[in-house]
Amino acid sequence: MASASRPPHGYARRLPSRTASTTDPSPPGGHSKMMQRLIFEPEHEQFRDMVRRFFQKEIGPHTARWREQGHVDRWAYQKAGELGLLLMWAGEAYGGAGIDDFRYEQIVSEENIRHGDIGFYINLHSGLVAPYIAGLGTEEQKQRWLPGCAKGDKILAIALTEPGAGSDLAGMRTTAVDNGDHWVLNGSKTYISNGQLADIVIVAAKTSTTESHRIGLFVIEAGAAGFERGTRLKKMGLHAQDTSELFFKDVKVPKNQVLGEPEKGFHYLTNFLSGERLIVAVSSMAQSQTAFDLTLEFARDRRAFGRAIGKFQNTRFVLADLRARIDAMQTFVDQCVMLHNQKELTSEVAASAKYLASELENDVMDACVQIHGGAGYMEEYRISRMFTDARVSRIFAGSSEIMKEIIGRSLGLDERKLN
Ligand SMILES: Cc1cc2nc3c(=O)[nH]c(=O)nc-3n(C[C@H](O)[C@H](O)[C@H](O)COP(=O)(O)OP(=O)(O)OC[C@H]3O[C@@H](n4cnc5c(N)ncnc54)[C@H](O)[C@@H]3O)c2cc1C
Repeated sequence: MASASRPPHGYARRLPSRTASTTDPSPPGGHSKMMQRLIFEPEHEQFRDMVRRFFQKEIGPHTARWREQGHVDRWAYQKAGELGLLLMWAGEAYGGAGIDDFRYEQIVSEENIRHGDIGFYINLHSGLVAPYIAGLGTEEQKQRWLPGCAKGDKILAIALTEPGAGSDLAGMRTTAVDNGDHWVLNGSKTYISNGQLADIVIVAAKTSTTESHRIGLFVIEAGAAGFERGTRLKKMGLHAQDTSELFFKDVKVPKNQVLGEPEKGFHYLTNFLSGERLIVAVSSMAQSQTAFDLTLEFARDRRAFGRAIGKFQNTRFVLADLRARIDAMQTFVDQCVMLHNQKELTSEVAASAKYLASELENDVMDACVQIHGGAGYMEEYRISRMFTDARVSRIFAGSSEIMKEIIGRSLGLDERKLN
């Protein structure tokens, strides 16, 4: 892919090397002068070294091909599973390591983004979907599904969004009708991450025709009669991530494939979405830091008017502004990780982290593309891909507007309280 759009001879000599600045920017604490982070212990740093080597050696070399083919290879999950990187929090009886410390998930996400590919949705699988099974599942359900997920043999997805209902999930039209010993599911979902690869999909469906907030969470396995996948959706970014429509036509779901109570889905989603938003915030920070590092390197190497562009005051000011904002936000997100570990991360603080980190990520990408000049618009420069990858952070897992709604609701300003 890189050679197809190589800059013309001569121009290339004046551009900083792509290899150094596109794939492997300096690690945290390297020459980017990232502020010291206080949440990690020596064992986390050792873990980070191991995880970094995994992403550099096993994942990084395949990412360009994955972006071309539109999805990661299944073996990526299995290799991550062999190393124990999936469902680390789950008990050993379910194939995990019993490590209930979100910092490990955070490290996996950070190293994946820096050295692997954001499209490898290891955190969606491990940190976002699997907890629904662990938190809501019966013993039989946990035994049945979690070990395969921890090994990477079974890939997970969650399907909430529909063509007519995203932010407003109460408007969903997928239904589940009680039919004695099973439920019958009908409807369709869209924009589903891992939609092509998933072996197990948690599907939200209405279980009442009269009460819009009554939904259930149903586990649908690949191969179930009536469950079909649409084609992979073409997207602006995240090209290694398979995003799809899913269709359900009279799918029979045995009663033992419902998670929790079949009418309490909204309540469950509210609880679990905080974790999802923290994962997005962590990812936005890793994207921001990585973009900053490769742009700093570019500003050192790229020359204009007889000097490195980093010598222009404007470049320094822009990078200084980003440095200060990334450090401040990283501190906040790290604090949220510790609150999450203590089970004290509220939905409004998680919403604040997701909102602010994803908005910052987009500001960072825009400024970093600008510093790269024309090179920043060229696909072979990683910053151009990061720019398009970043755009969705302000939309999925609850848009920025919905995050502000959640934060706003916690302020005691609603009409009933203000007269
Ligand atoms: C790449 C990608 C991957 C995704 N992966 C998944 C997945 O795995 N599973 C899944 O279920 N979904 C997934 N989604 C869907 C995603 O969560 C939704 O797109 C998102 O929640 C927004 O819903 P929507 O697209 O229907 O937009 P809408 O809800 O139609 O919103 C349109 C606009 O209106 C604004 N708006 C809506 N309501 C309000 C309000 N009350 N106040 C102010 N503004 C408002 C929104 O902020 C937005 O700007 C994914 C989406 C993308 C793009």
